[in-house]
Amino acid sequence: MTGTSEVKSRAHQLVEAARQLFMAGVMSHSGHANLSVRLDDERFLLTPGFVRDLEADQLATVGLDGRVLEGELRSVSAEIITMHSAVYRARPQVGAIIHTHSPAATAFAVAHRPLPCRTEPMLRFGQPEEVPVVPWGPRGSDVSVRGIAEVLERRPTTAAVLLANHGLLVFGPDAAATAHLVVAIEESAEAEIAAAAIGGAVDFPAGALEAVRASIARVAR
Ligand SMILES: [Zn+2]
Repeated sequence: MTGTSEVKSRAHQLVEAARQLFMAGVMSHSGHANLSVRLDDERFLLTPGFVRDLEADQLATVGLDGRVLEGELRSVSAEIITMHSAVYRARPQVGAIIHTHSPAATAFAVAHRPLPCRTEPMLRFGQPEEVPVVPWGPRGSDVSVRGIAEVLERRPTTAAVLLANHGLLVFGPDAAATAHLVVAIEESAEAEIAAAAIGGAVDFPAGALEAVRASIARVAR
């Protein structure tokens, strides 16, 4: 079980991650997003249905079985519980999940186009492969949740999926790393769209990921 101080610390990390997303300018006009952080094998903290001016004590505690254990959720958030719990169940190592309607990433989702990994931040910060598209289903529906689970099974190393005609879903070891990856993905999507006007984005050369890993290892030594 996770102790009270650890729960508080993860709640603060989640609130800070939400703030970072606004500061980085990756939110859509509506400011819509939902974020969660895992507490243990059975529970996670979830944003209550809004993220602007969020306070740590406004987060709800939710069971992986979908039950709200503590706090209150607006109906909009109740719908997306299963989207988060499906990822936590499929990926025991995932510690945080962020869903946004980041505009450029959402353009790929709307176009049903997987987002290739062609930028340094995406390669470096946790998604050295293309972001696949999950077929559309109403938010939180069985169709949508099953679609996410199927893509996660088919793509065991992806740290993000595009939700067709909807938005972006990113997961990582903790709230900060996950927020970082949301920003890297949004930047990559913007760059892809901009590059399309001047001849199109180009793939990394073979061995780029290995080269980046070797470079990171050199600095870390
Ligand atoms: Zn959404």
